[in-house]
Amino acid sequence: MPSVASNILKLKSELPPGIKLVAVSKTKTAAEILDAYGAGHKCFGENKAQELLAKKDALPSDIEWHFIGHLQTNKVKLIAPFISIIQSVDTLKLLTVINSEAARAGRVINCLLQLHIAEEETKFGFSIEELTTALVSGAVGNMHSVNICGLMGMASFTDNTSQVRKEFAYLKQCFDRLKHEYFGTTPHFKEISMGMSGDYKTAIEAGSTMVRIGGKLFGERKK
Ligand SMILES: *Cc1c(COP(=O)(O)O)cnc(C)c1O
Repeated sequence: MPSVASNILKLKSELPPGIKLVAVSKTKTAAEILDAYGAGHKCFGENKAQELLAKKDALPSDIEWHFIGHLQTNKVKLIAPFISIIQSVDTLKLLTVINSEAARAGRVINCLLQLHIAEEETKFGFSIEELTTALVSGAVGNMHSVNICGLMGMASFTDNTSQVRKEFAYLKQCFDRLKHEYFGTTPHFKEISMGMSGDYKTAIEAGSTMVRIGGKLFGERKK
């Protein structure tokens, strides 16, 4: 069986230049993460605050941690002191809490706004209408302890590639529109985080700048 380290090296050699790889290590052990770290990879994604805290304490301090799951507002303070980026900002309320906890921690926290692009109701994220309403309100512009770096989205879980392609194209189109209308003078608004083990090639064709890949690197998850 190929090791996590060799999976990482192989995938990195295949990704086009400029595409950032977030190795999604949720449910995986610190030892498995260390295997990937040993191959020179330092960027990992987790989706539960408590699990992330435990791993962070057990692992090297130069790891760049990305938060990619639904985040309850009362958990923000746990990760605010160290998180590199929160990719899954899905409400204005959450962004407000991140802004205040970042200020309290003396940091500016990078964030992606999560857009709901899938057919499934179960997935989190803003609709484009909710997002533009939030941006027009001016509330976001007054938050000085968050850096809005772009958008994140998850496509429908389906083998229907044309459906997935359509959803990623929609996310790219929303990104371009928001960049033009609200973030034209914000150079760090440049990331489109889309693509997972099953659909990252389609996502890259549609303009992804960041892929979040778990199973293909670490093997199938049990939960
Ligand atoms: C689990 C997860 C991933 C990785 O999924 P794989 O199919 O294992 O590559 C990516 N993004 C989010 C938000 C996730 O929760």
